[in-house]
Amino acid sequence: MTTAQKPTHSVRSAAPAPPPPQDNPIIHGDQATIQHWLHHYWQKLQLPEEELQLLAITQDRQEFMSWTGKRLNILALGCYGYLPPPVRRRRAPVSKATHRHLIFIEPDMQPQSIEVTIAHELIHLSDRVKGNPRRHRHHGYDSIAADEAAITGYSLEELRALLQMEGERREQIRRARRPIRYLYECPNCGKRYPRARRYSQAVSCSSCDKSYNPRFRLLLVPTTA
Ligand SMILES: [Zn+2]
Ligand SMILES: [Zn+2]
Repeated sequence: MTTAQKPTHSVRSAAPAPPPPQDNPIIHGDQATIQHWLHHYWQKLQLPEEELQLLAITQDRQEFMSWTGKRLNILALGCYGYLPPPVRRRRAPVSKATHRHLIFIEPDMQPQSIEVTIAHELIHLSDRVKGNPRRHRHHGYDSIAADEAAITGYSLEELRALLQMEGERREQIRRARRPIRYLYECPNCGKRYPRARRYSQAVSCSSCDKSYNPRFRLLLVPTTA
């Protein structure tokens, strides 16, 4: 099971640079589709109207990363980011700067996945507006997934199947971007382990022994560059 929707919040690479707010939510991507599901689920979640103009959605990963100033996991199908209001320096003029809601939606997905990902990220937004942001315990199995099923009408099984399918697609894309450079081999059974990076520590063959066993320590096979 991949952590397909898990955003990476760990590395702060730059200062957040959200787009200036407008009268309407900012949507960069498939306008018609996003607008449709945004309206639909905004109503269903009974989200406050005044938060709508603080929302910006993009389907461009680079743009989302520059808005939030954080890295976005290549496996993420969607991401909700909350930007707190900027801290006002003393004697600085009172600005109208306020908090922002930033959402990324992966464009290369099935229509149902686009829909449920929009619903999913709006549940995070709703939690934040209510002052009760939840963290994921287990994607597809936690209370957020239960809420997602309740508002979308999809069953938990259907939501998990979508998550898995889209996660596998992202995984394939990730593999294609990170070519195999190292090949390891089990000295016992000969099983091969292609890797994009070197193992940072000794690793043994999981087919020959479930726990680490130096007898089955994987050996690097010389490859021609
Ligand atoms: Zn989530
Ligand atoms: Zn082996």
